[in-house]
Amino acid sequence: MSRWVIHLDLDAFYASAEQLTRPTLAGRPVLVGGTGPRGVVAGASYESRAFGIRSAMPMAQARRLLPANGVIVPPRFRVYERLSQEVFAVVTSVAPVLEKISLDEAFAEPPSLVGASLDEVTSFCASLRARIRAETGLVASIGAGNGKQIAKIASDEAKPDGLLVVPQGTEREFLAPLPVRALWGIGPVAEGKLRFIGVQTLGQLAALSEPDAVATLGGVVGRDLRRLATGVDDRPVAGRAETKQVSAETTFDTDIKDLASLRAEVRRIAVGAHQRLVKAGRVARTVVIKLRHTDMHTVTRSETISAPTDDLAELAATAERLLIDPAEFGGIRLAGVAYSGLSVPHQDALFSLAAPSVPSTSTVVSAPAPAAPSEWRQGDDVVHEEFGTGWVQGAGHGRVTVRFERRSSGPGVARTFLQSDPALTRGDPRDCLS
Ligand SMILES: [Mg+2]
Repeated sequence: MSRWVIHLDLDAFYASAEQLTRPTLAGRPVLVGGTGPRGVVAGASYESRAFGIRSAMPMAQARRLLPANGVIVPPRFRVYERLSQEVFAVVTSVAPVLEKISLDEAFAEPPSLVGASLDEVTSFCASLRARIRAETGLVASIGAGNGKQIAKIASDEAKPDGLLVVPQGTEREFLAPLPVRALWGIGPVAEGKLRFIGVQTLGQLAALSEPDAVATLGGVVGRDLRRLATGVDDRPVAGRAETKQVSAETTFDTDIKDLASLRAEVRRIAVGAHQRLVKAGRVARTVVIKLRHTDMHTVTRSETISAPTDDLAELAATAERLLIDPAEFGGIRLAGVAYSGLSVPHQDALFSLAAPSVPSTSTVVSAPAPAAPSEWRQGDDVVHEEFGTGWVQGAGHGRVTVRFERRSSGPGVARTFLQSDPALTRGDPRDCLS
């Protein structure tokens, strides 16, 4: 019986969520992210991508590329979280076991598709996409195939607003022209090793003999990746609970023997784990480092910080503090950094979305900003006694302009008030979903 795995991925999720719940933003270039000096783009609408803007780009650079009708708004993870639940509830109704990868991405292996034909799979996925759009307002692209790897690559190819089903038996030719990096598990190091022996595409990797793949990439990894490149992928779709931690780790080509090199590597790994934290829309309370010594003995050390954070400088500095001088052990073979104790940021406005930068121990001294509770900022959610739910479109010179609209309202009208207008109070971001 043939097996069908689907990979569902919402298109430009954070930016689409903003366009959906603030309808005047629909069709405009929208960026979601921090606007501070180290802010990065956490989400970019397709309209903004036309100008070369990408996720994870420094916000300062994106701002220069953004056309005049573009809008930058701070992230509202409580809204994204709720929308994600709505989408996954639709998917769960037809595929009870979901393997969630992030707020906007999941694998499923619908029981009704066991042994299904290509046409049946295609119409199943098309109707799932239509239901998600009708019930939530969001656009999901879907890829389907004989395993997780194929389904994931297919959904990437299907974007935006697309569906791609890879017919069974054609996996190998589908993968063959793709660069080796398209495969999970092939990072820059493995890519370099493969390039060294003249292998750049998945077709070339699949054509390697197993002993050659093993000699180049190592035992288990070489065998697995070569098999994946041939289109064989029997890994199960496993139901996954709430993300408990995010992590990144690296096995070194040669053991690390001094603290300065280890510190530099751990800083780099901390940046990688931080990208996953941002992708998951979480803040972390605990930093864990893992160090495997030359003799394969593994040590983990952790530290819990005072308040949950997504601040890279703080997380990376904590990881560095936990390091042990490799000289005491004769060498470090593998290092990893994990962030755990994850939670949804409580106050979205405080979510700093810091850009990857080298953590520094220097102290920046600056005057505390005057705390004015009535100070409205662009993107704030508000409620007006008379006009209801809206968001701050602009503020300055003692005035604030509010656009009154929600997911179900269509584009709303803008009205200007005094900053101090008592009829205006802070709103719950989730009100825009009603
Ligand atoms: Mg997505």
